Amino acid sequence: MLQSSESYDVVVAGGGNAALCAAITAARAGRRVVVVEAAPKFYRGGNTRHTRNVRCSQDGRAPTMTGTYSPEEFRDDLMRVTGGQTDEALARLTVERSRELPDWLHGQGIGFQPPLGGTLSLGSTNAFFLGGGRGALNALYRTAERLGVTMLYEAPVTALRIEHGTFVSATVTGKDGARDIRGKTLIAAAGGFEANLDWLKRYWGEAADNFLIRGTPYNRGDVLRMLLEKGVMAVGDPTQCHAVAIDARAPKFDGGIATRLDCIIFGIVVNKDAVRFYDEGEDLWPKRYAIWGRLVAQQPGQIAYSIIDAKSIHQFMPSIFPAVAAGSIRELAEKLGLDGAVLVRTVSDFNTAVCPGNFDYTQLDDCRTEGLPLPKTHWARTIDQPPFYGYPLRPGITFTYLGVKVDAEARMLLEGGRTSPNMFAAGEIMAGNVLGKGYLAGIGMTIGAVFGRIAGEGAAAHARH
Ligand SMILES: Cc1cc2nc3c(=O)[nH]c(=O)nc-3n(C[C@H](O)[C@H](O)[C@H](O)COP(=O)(O)OP(=O)(O)OC[C@H]3O[C@@H](n4cnc5c(N)ncnc54)[C@H](O)[C@@H]3O)c2cc1C
Repeated sequence: MLQSSESYDVVVAGGGNAALCAAITAARAGRRVVVVEAAPKFYRGGNTRHTRNVRCSQDGRAPTMTGTYSPEEFRDDLMRVTGGQTDEALARLTVERSRELPDWLHGQGIGFQPPLGGTLSLGSTNAFFLGGGRGALNALYRTAERLGVTMLYEAPVTALRIEHGTFVSATVTGKDGARDIRGKTLIAAAGGFEANLDWLKRYWGEAADNFLIRGTPYNRGDVLRMLLEKGVMAVGDPTQCHAVAIDARAPKFDGGIATRLDCIIFGIVVNKDAVRFYDEGEDLWPKRYAIWGRLVAQQPGQIAYSIIDAKSIHQFMPSIFPAVAAGSIRELAEKLGLDGAVLVRTVSDFNTAVCPGNFDYTQLDDCRTEGLPLPKTHWARTIDQPPFYGYPLRPGITFTYLGVKVDAEARMLLEGGRTSPNMFAAGEIMAGNVLGKGYLAGIGMTIGAVFGRIAGEGAAAHARH
């Protein structure tokens, strides 16, 4: 039964970074704001809980960052990873306004810490949250609450009333039944559809059963689906997503950062036939790690194995699961369930092709193979020092890129090209405007914070009139 309706200036659907940046901005402009979050309080904040950093352009003044990162460099990086598949105006806006983020986020209570080292190489490009994503999120919630934002937990949006492209109300269905929340504006910040395996299966078929979802089980794409059904224009390729290779032993949902494996560049990666299938040394980690989920998804059985030796085992951040260890490649193959003869041949062909060079994983070094049909172009070192190690890999889906199309004011565009007067979007739900494909480490939070703020500004201004 529908309970009595409440009314706000701004209804924010979702409870992660994008939602909170939007809610805080609108509340600071004096508007009455409600945040409706599908998850219970402990699990609030979706994928934002799992994050560690945000990518920002900076001129050397950000206290915990090193060097500088100009808007031109940021833009070039984005163009390279997306292959130009981005809305250039929105990409420029993201990059330009990313400069404000360290100060602005700090102003909302978020602390920063010096960057992590290792394979990350993110000191000049990414600001790291003190206390990780959970710490950042708690700070945003505290600030929003202090500003008088109403928080509703276990309150998934289950229906949207939209008339001629204008938002009227959202139905949220909680433990006590359904309630109708009216609003002068809507900000959709309810994530992608990555946790909805049936939806993923439409594009990936049965292979999706072998995907692991790195983040929240609550991002099922319901708000996105309803908006698209109500005539909002879609953006992005539904098969495109941020997907990394993670430890195959990770849980189905919410395994988070501790299950990610950063060892790929240090050795070779083979599929279940024990053969290599991609250049493991193609580019620096922040620009290339996010292609590996997709690559593994395209392999038979959606499984692969990273093979390294004793030289490399301490050079990357380990997974929460120990590596499978063996005294010989043949024994390692047996333990991983691979054909021993084939893996021995793959490793020995690789070792023979390795050229001498100066190994340096912090840059594109000169260690490469020569003569292999599939080269390894950097960081190629022989795999010959026991013990040998293997990690099983599965596609770890982070977030999907199909979203709602927005303009530079974060306003949703409707089929036919008209702009919605009062519906805005921020974060994963519109990330596909900027990310046609590929990924740059930390840009998920950039898109959420930049467009969250823009959406909050726009919604506040609209609600005032
Ligand atoms: C393991 C992991 C590590 C990551 N690390 C980083 C990183 O270091 N830096 C970075 O930039 N990005 C990182 N990302 C990506 C980043 O998490 C996302 O880009 C970002 O958090 C998206 O913010 P958002 O607010 O759009 O979505 P989310 O933070 O996912 O929030 C979406 C919210 O919507 C809610 N919701 C869903 N459906 C409904 C509904 N029907 N009604 C109401 N609420 C609903 C969810 O409960 C959730 O609170 C990482 C992701 C994962 C999974």
